[in-house]
Amino acid sequence: MTAEPAEHEGRETELLLQGVTVSYGEKVALSAVNLDVAAEAVVAVIGPSGCGKSTMLRAIAGLEPLTEGEIELGGRSLRGVPTHQRDLGLMFQEHALFPHRSVAGNVAFGLERKGRTESEIRERVGEVLELVGMDGFGSRSIEALSGGEAQRVALARALAPTPRLLMLDEPLGSLDRVLRQQLTGDLREVFARTGVTAIHVTHDQSEAFALADHVVILRAGRIEQQGSPADLWRHPTSRFVAEFLGHPNVWEVDGRHVLTPVTALQPDPNGSIVVRVDRVEFQEGRFRITGAEALLVSERVVVFDSDTAPAVGDHLRLALDKSQVYPLAD
Ligand code: ADP
Ligand code: MG
Repeated sequence: MTAEPAEHEGRETELLLQGVTVSYGEKVALSAVNLDVAAEAVVAVIGPSGCGKSTMLRAIAGLEPLTEGEIELGGRSLRGVPTHQRDLGLMFQEHALFPHRSVAGNVAFGLERKGRTESEIRERVGEVLELVGMDGFGSRSIEALSGGEAQRVALARALAPTPRLLMLDEPLGSLDRVLRQQLTGDLREVFARTGVTAIHVTHDQSEAFALADHVVILRAGRIEQQGSPADLWRHPTSRFVAEFLGHPNVWEVDGRHVLTPVTALQPDPNGSIVVRVDRVEFQEGRFRITGAEALLVSERVVVFDSDTAPAVGDHLRLALDKSQVYPLAD
């Protein structure tokens, strides 16, 4: 849909994509993407598998040629600039840590390429290892690291040369849920402490919402919607976005889809909606109830919250606040 500028809050544009299109032969993986990223912003790019997230990062990194469009970083066109001269920190799955270098050797890599002196390198390596919570791990070998530790070292390696832009492609994808949540919090702190401009790609909307000031949703190579996490959650413009973000109660009414937020439904003995309770989950102090609308031929799924727990199989009446219900494009 529209591509309004990111929440700049008076900051300069650091990264600008204008009409960026990338094709693999016949396949258009990224189509006319416009994106404006403010300095020091953390932008999350989300969308289902195959929607073009990695292609977008690879295009910015200069690893895929543009079919059309322009990319500027820090006000300078990247046209013709090779990857290693783009001033980027990359944390991509295919850029594994160097197995034959120690932790410190990995983190030092970009600094060596920049021709820093040995003492500058030693100091900076210590600084970034401390930043990612890996103080004292410098002499460890890569094989001796856990999955979470390896990701911290990869982050330190990407950050060591103080890049203009940090790009992470599903950096937590291979980790279990608990570790992911912990590292999400740690990443957030690192972004804040360094003030780095970052693009974080993930297929997980909760990770994106926890990390980013600005979220871009890609759908089949196009930007479907972008905005702050709160904007996107409160005002998804399409069924695709509402469902991708995990909103329940996306209903079809007279052939159109509408979003009925959980808050629009209240248990009420005089209510007009009758549901049969299918599932009751205690969640953050209230009961999250999943039911099916009992009076319809096609049983519509209805999710709502209640202070009291009904039994599975009970029938309940709900009142609907129609002012909260709004239409969605497909
Ligand atoms: P995501 O990272 O969102 O999962 P990708 O950017 O990897 O998506 O891929 C976008 C689309 O481009 C997909 O349909 C994918 O199959 C296709 N694609 C990606 N890389 C190549 C390639 N090297 N050659 C041909 N098609 C590709
Ligand atoms: Mg990908």
